[in-house]
Amino acid sequence: MPHVELPRDILPSDGRFGCGPAKIRTEHIEALAGPGSVILGTSHRQRPVKDLVGRVRARMTDLFRAPAGYEVILGNGGSTAFWDAAAFGLIETRSQHLVFGEFGGKFAAAAKTPWLQPPDVREVAGGMRTAPEPVEGIDVYAWPHNETSTGVSAPVTRVDGDAGALTVIDATSAAGGIDFSIHEADVYYFAPQKNLGSDGGLWFALVSPAAVERIERIAASGRYIPEFLSLKNALDNSRLNQTLNTPALATLFLLNEQLAWISRNGGLQWADARTRESSRALYAWADATEFATPFVADPADRSQVVVTIDFEESVDAAAVAASLRANGIVDTEPYRKLGRNQLRVATFVSIDPEDVRQLIRCIDYTVERITV
Ligand SMILES: *Cc1c(COP(=O)(O)O)cnc(C)c1O
Repeated sequence: MPHVELPRDILPSDGRFGCGPAKIRTEHIEALAGPGSVILGTSHRQRPVKDLVGRVRARMTDLFRAPAGYEVILGNGGSTAFWDAAAFGLIETRSQHLVFGEFGGKFAAAAKTPWLQPPDVREVAGGMRTAPEPVEGIDVYAWPHNETSTGVSAPVTRVDGDAGALTVIDATSAAGGIDFSIHEADVYYFAPQKNLGSDGGLWFALVSPAAVERIERIAASGRYIPEFLSLKNALDNSRLNQTLNTPALATLFLLNEQLAWISRNGGLQWADARTRESSRALYAWADATEFATPFVADPADRSQVVVTIDFEESVDAAAVAASLRANGIVDTEPYRKLGRNQLRVATFVSIDPEDVRQLIRCIDYTVERITV
């Protein structure tokens, strides 16, 4: 298909607008090839890599302003592995899951196991949001802070359920881009290939003392838990700044750079303001543009880190995304299973708000020329 050639002066300085793996700052990639290269290809059981893991854990504690008693644990396999680890080692009897998109749904599916009671799943259509409801017998309340497949954000607010019930938040696309209070969560877990500007393959979790107690209790209960998915094993190893098996060292290095960069600029508040600025530009444009409408109807639910914009039938969003791609502006396609005439744009902290404004100019330029 012929594409619309974009003028150079409206091109963003970086064309990566995907929701993950997402833009990694060029400075950090250069640092990986420079100072970072000394750790690549070296033992993860030796001092330099353990120190790096220690720095990452300390910086996360700092970024999320975690109170005393909270710990940062990590393991291999990304957030998807964490779901299975949680089914084995965090959910005691029964969990409640808010499902307002693909990722929330995947954790709910992982919690359907022979050793747990069927989960209480609260599902709504894409673009909507649902809230947790205290129910007797539920010991884990789970939802995504940001549902990456739809661009819906949910507040992080502790559920006042049974004594000891844990609030467990999937922050994979939110962590490092949305401000919140960690006091409101027992487990705040994520992988670093989105706002945290690194590559995939690892999971991290901030865990409260109550969550630590839960992990230890289930591990001691005699329940069968595969070693690779054992949160107790992750907890013990993390305290020694290591992982059960080999972690991706480049991912750790890039993550540490990103955490340092956010911290130097003013921490989570700064990151929050920056993603807000970028997403506001897109929502304001969609509101003011004839052919575009924000997909998420309620402005309060609209994500500041993943913006989904529906197009009128007369404008083929897939053709627009393809044309942008031919100009080096990539990954503006919607989440594949959502199947909408839509663009989805990440406004993660690494993405310059000025680049988002340029992207808007590029979309307008393209649509004007593609439809006539
Ligand atoms: C990307 C994403 C995941 C999956 O992360 P992996 O590291 O690929 O397993 C889970 N939850 C949310 C909200 C995500 O955005």
